[in-house]
Amino acid sequence: MTTEKGEWRPARQTSPRCGARTRKGTPCRAPAVKHKRRCRLHGGAQGSGAQPGNTNALKHGFYSAAAEADRRRIRALIRAWRKGVAGLE
Ligand SMILES: [Zn+2]
Repeated sequence: MTTEKGEWRPARQTSPRCGARTRKGTPCRAPAVKHKRRCRLHGGAQGSGAQPGNTNALKHGFYSAAAEADRRRIRALIRAWRKGVAGLE
């Protein structure tokens, strides 16, 4: 296995690491479970977590990226409109 720089390393040194915060305060260095971001001890265990694409935690989407972008666009429109109205008087 080679790194991004092209150096050869054993696969066990290039695999994605868990990175969870340990009780010592340092990131966990254990390898992450395949296709997951955490190791088997930090939430990557088989059967742990939600199905891909589930929306169980979504209640109303008020803070979703799409909703916040919509609000940003509308605020910008209102700002522009106020500027235009002020110029009329
Ligand atoms: Zn871990």
